Amino acid sequence: MYELLVIGGGPAGITAAATAINQRLETLIIAERWGGQTTYTMQLEDMEGREPITGEALLDAFRRQLDYLDFVRRFDTVTRVTPVEQHFEVETAQGDRFEGQALIIATGAKPQRLNVPGEMRLVGRGLSYSAASHASLFLGKNVAVVGNGRRAQWAAASLARKAHRVFLLAPEPLVTTPLAAKLRKTKNVEVIEGAKVREVLGDRFVEGIVAEMPDGEVREILVKGVFVKLARTPNSELVREWVDCDSRGHIIVDVHCATSWPGVFAAGDVTLVSEQVLLHIGDGAKAAISAYHYLLMR
Ligand SMILES: Cc1cc2nc3c(=O)[nH]c(=O)nc-3n(C[C@H](O)[C@H](O)[C@H](O)COP(=O)(O)OP(=O)(O)OC[C@H]3O[C@@H](n4cnc5c(N)ncnc54)[C@H](O)[C@@H]3O)c2cc1C
Repeated sequence: MYELLVIGGGPAGITAAATAINQRLETLIIAERWGGQTTYTMQLEDMEGREPITGEALLDAFRRQLDYLDFVRRFDTVTRVTPVEQHFEVETAQGDRFEGQALIIATGAKPQRLNVPGEMRLVGRGLSYSAASHASLFLGKNVAVVGNGRRAQWAAASLARKAHRVFLLAPEPLVTTPLAAKLRKTKNVEVIEGAKVREVLGDRFVEGIVAEMPDGEVREILVKGVFVKLARTPNSELVREWVDCDSRGHIIVDVHCATSWPGVFAAGDVTLVSEQVLLHIGDGAKAAISAYHYLLMR
């Protein structure tokens, strides 16, 4: 039996496993693949010479520790996790079964795409899924944010401090929050509820967005940036039946990354913590240290 099983090979899982191994815990990390969603950088027309620190580069040192120890990793999909008395059983798609005394869930979340022409071609060329990472690159420019929930509102508010003008294209009415009320009164924010995005325009870089307005008019809006902030589905189905999650499926954790089930810890996008590689690297390490403390006390 392993002391610790880590599920997920993104920033949170890789850092958790590397931290646990440094504590000499008998650890196994199971992931479909390495890296998770860390391979996105942003290039803009006027950004020559600027070298962003990529999520991949940040993670590289941790990942190399795991590559070196091939017995600590398994590339496979976990299909079932079962709590059994004082430990956990994990089954995989390839038919393997592993046991662990503690568990870290770092399975990330599925982002919802726009699924319109231009989206995939312009990802990283003005089209972003992370305002926390890229908003500051759009100083003085016009940008669009697509979404109606809290994440879209937060992105629009953050961009309003940096960009010249922000078009908040909400497919549904804005979720009622204090920030929504503030955005409606913010001078450089135009909130358009009921707008359906049809296309992202641009050859090498984003140049605009085409949206169908609530009255049926099709409008072309000139922007240099498009931030897609639609719903995100946390990959928590492995434990959702027996670990406390919020109404959208995020695993609820305390400040130590501990869940409601003793011995189960969670980190990264599968929890409510905002979607940024840097934060998840810290969270993964925190979850591993908490699991270590849990194991010391058993
Ligand atoms: C398109 C896009 C662009 C982004 N751009 C940026 C950016 O520029 N800067 C930034 O800081 N952040 C960015 N983010 C956010 C950032 O990538 C995520 O917050 C971060 O990768 C989350 O880390 P994680 O470890 O929680 O999950 P993930 O990176 O999603 O990794 C989850 C891992 O778990 C594995 N997994 C899931 N289910 C199973 C299972 N059942 N069995 C085995 N393995 C499983 C997956 O294969 C994957 O390896 C972006 C996100 C997206 C979607």
